[in-house]
Amino acid sequence: MLVEETLRAASPREMVDHHFDRAAERLRLSAEMRTLLSTPFREIKAQVPVRMDDGSLRIFTAYRVQHNSARGPAKGGIRFHPWVNEEEIRALAETMTWKAALVNVPFGGAKGGIVCDPAELSEGELERLTRKFISRIHRLLGPYRDVPAPDMGTNPQVMSWILDEYSSHYGYTPACVTGKPAELGGAPDRMQATGRGVAYVLSRYIESFGHPLKDLGLKVVIQGFGNVGSHTALALAAEGCEVMAVSDVYGGIASRDRKGLPIPALAAYVREHGSVAGFPDTRPVDNEEILTLDCDVLIPAAVECVLHQGNAPRVQARMVVEAANLPTMPEADEIFARRGITVIPDILANAGGVVVSYLEWTQNLQQEEWDENKTEAELRRYLSRAFQEVSARAEAERISLRQAAYEIAIERVAQAERLRGA
Ligand code: NAD
Repeated sequence: MLVEETLRAASPREMVDHHFDRAAERLRLSAEMRTLLSTPFREIKAQVPVRMDDGSLRIFTAYRVQHNSARGPAKGGIRFHPWVNEEEIRALAETMTWKAALVNVPFGGAKGGIVCDPAELSEGELERLTRKFISRIHRLLGPYRDVPAPDMGTNPQVMSWILDEYSSHYGYTPACVTGKPAELGGAPDRMQATGRGVAYVLSRYIESFGHPLKDLGLKVVIQGFGNVGSHTALALAAEGCEVMAVSDVYGGIASRDRKGLPIPALAAYVREHGSVAGFPDTRPVDNEEILTLDCDVLIPAAVECVLHQGNAPRVQARMVVEAANLPTMPEADEIFARRGITVIPDILANAGGVVVSYLEWTQNLQQEEWDENKTEAELRRYLSRAFQEVSARAEAERISLRQAAYEIAIERVAQAERLRGA
């Protein structure tokens, strides 16, 4: 099966259900609590008409799913991607609930998306699309209701339009969205936060065996070189890792020798050319081959469901660090467990984004401004605590890191629901 067919056939929803059911079983949650926790409390499907540059009217389909708000306002990114669909957004919204609970920030989970290819839209069309979407759903958003953030295909400029559109209804409200530029109250380094967090969680894992990451020169392969993938690569290269191959939607590149790619130069090349493809002195690899290259650490940082039973037996990495949400299908998880390949799950590995979003939100509410050092120190503190809790539980109960992470998160949300009267 081609990669694209596999991705389209896969169901992120089934994956989330699978992880939830396994954790709920061991936590002995009642049937009512299982239904309450696994069902989104509110879903919106909006029709978004946009006047295109050529004068035609195009109707886009958009979603916002608020999965759970027992522990705080719903929180989660907005994705612009051609494959966005209801089931995917539902699954990602639920994943956000568990992620926020795991790192213990006072948020619930949400996700949104618009079915579109941002690369095909002009700046003006993107702005009109974003504003129209927010004008359709603004009553359900707000600093204490639902706070969007960037995800695939969206960036600080899109967050700025969201801020402006929301503020046109309610007055200036910087805490209504995170991932904004610093000039509008964005946390310093929010865009780098998820990738840096991925690198930090990996370094904590390696350190737990008594080795500083810097000493090992691990060979790393990364699928996806957008916000998360590129900042993961930069952070790991700075920690002495050798990034051997990277890819994006247009293709991939691998080092021609045993030395890592020059990541800062590659990031500059991508800013100029829009893709990693064609970077000098490398050999091309495709998005399927990249997952099975020889390396120590494989980091999926693009789309869901890329690791499945078809390619998991051929993965050569000793460790998979899930920078993307839901990249590993349950059958692949089982194959990795049998083969002794450790998986650091998405809700832990990529939680740096939601932590820094939380820091941004609190600063906006208190009209405070922190510097980069304070933000970075807090990011590390939250991720370090979550890592310790997950690894301690996994070790004590002899379960996988994913199972431990889901159990901790679900327990917290279930307790919040009970205390609130469920
Ligand atoms: P992005 O749009 O900045 O980058 C996505 C990258 O994936 C790009 O390099 C793109 O070319 C590539 N890509 C897209 N479709 C692909 C395909 N079919 N095959 C291979 N590559 C493909 O997005 P991002 O913000 O870096 O998000 C990447 C992943 O990380 C997503 O799963 C997202 O949900 C997750 N994530 C993002 C954040 C965040 O703060 N942005 C936080 C947590 C998790």
